[in-house]
Amino acid sequence: MRAVDIIQKKRDGGALSPEEITFFVDGYTAGRVPDYQASALAMAVFFRGMTPEETLSLTRSMMRTGEVLDLSDLPGPRVDKHSTGGVGDKTSLVLAPLAAACGVYVPMISGRGLGHTGGTLDKLESIPGFRVGLSLDEFRSDLRRTGMAFIGQTPQIAPADRKLYALRDVTATVESRPLIAASIMSKKMAEGIDALVLDVKTGDGAFMKTFEDSRALARAMVDIGRGMGKKIAALITDMDQPLGHSVGNSLEVAECIETLKGRGPRDLEELSVELAAWMLHLPAGEPLDAARGRIRKALASGEGLRKFREVVEQQGGDPAVCEDAGRLPRASGTVEVRSEARGHVTRIACAAIGHAAMVLGAGRETVDSAIDPAVGILLHKKVGEAVSAGELLATLHVNDPGRLEDAVGVVRSAIHIGPEAPPSQPLIREVLR
Ligand code: URA
Repeated sequence: MRAVDIIQKKRDGGALSPEEITFFVDGYTAGRVPDYQASALAMAVFFRGMTPEETLSLTRSMMRTGEVLDLSDLPGPRVDKHSTGGVGDKTSLVLAPLAAACGVYVPMISGRGLGHTGGTLDKLESIPGFRVGLSLDEFRSDLRRTGMAFIGQTPQIAPADRKLYALRDVTATVESRPLIAASIMSKKMAEGIDALVLDVKTGDGAFMKTFEDSRALARAMVDIGRGMGKKIAALITDMDQPLGHSVGNSLEVAECIETLKGRGPRDLEELSVELAAWMLHLPAGEPLDAARGRIRKALASGEGLRKFREVVEQQGGDPAVCEDAGRLPRASGTVEVRSEARGHVTRIACAAIGHAAMVLGAGRETVDSAIDPAVGILLHKKVGEAVSAGELLATLHVNDPGRLEDAVGVVRSAIHIGPEAPPSQPLIREVLR
């Protein structure tokens, strides 16, 4: 077999066999296939696409370049949730403890923020002392002890994806549906899970801006999961405005703790409860209503918060943040953005808010940028709410005044005020199985 023939076949619109895909993926991971040939294949896939069978083979091959965790010794279902990423998207910190409190093991291999979107690892690291760099052995024993643990992608998990993702990033081939689906699923399928709930975001702040694109990505990932024998569902959910009120790492942690105390924003609570209920439902078909009831009970009884406190302590973090949010990093200053008009919030440009938070230092422009855990944006109004002239729309939490002017301008123009409230959008648009 030769890499050049495989590239040519895809270039001309052919479907690659599982053997050809494995040959290429293994060769690339081991350094036998050079970057220029992998770039050429990625570009051919970008233009020609892949069949569901090819996408499944690609996922399998990428997964098998690394370790696949065996968690079969855990005495309960192993279930994860993956979000395609958004602004203020912090559900993992709420739903994982709720699901774990209900007897599900949640092995979360999470990511960092990039561009206008945030990442779970950055949020967790804003808790003083919290360590996400666990070894796989520590991860396994933490999981057994508390039912949940958070780590980042290790070099042992799907190394082909690490290498290929870096290449796609600099060859304009990230936005390819089969490559995105295989990239995400190769990592998730290595987690040793029985079931996976996908939160596929749609709208201005999402990776996929249109509902059709989000649905097609959801379909591709659900098909891969089923093809690999997993229980899987995808909830396509709204990302046309930030989730909750806070954007920025320690602000988001504080909001999650409030949510686990039953005092969080309605949309964050609703989505976290629904995703967690699916995590209970998928493994053995527990009726969704019963699953929702159990999750709500774990929330109301404080069991979810206790589980969160336990995991913070387990991973070296300061558990007292659960009682005193003042222990989280706090910015040195705040700046208010007030409404110039009276009316209703008709739109919040979601990606722009994420971008403004990044400009303040909450996110990364490139994978190597340092982030500031304390800074970010608190939105006081959601789409549809009434506003009077002079009323507070947003508070920016700031450490570096040099970055302020740009961010204030972006936030001000991102929040649109009009005479009438727009029709309300459902938070959960569709569920795919
Ligand atoms: N996230 C991933 O892990 N991979 C992609 O290709 C895109 C988003």
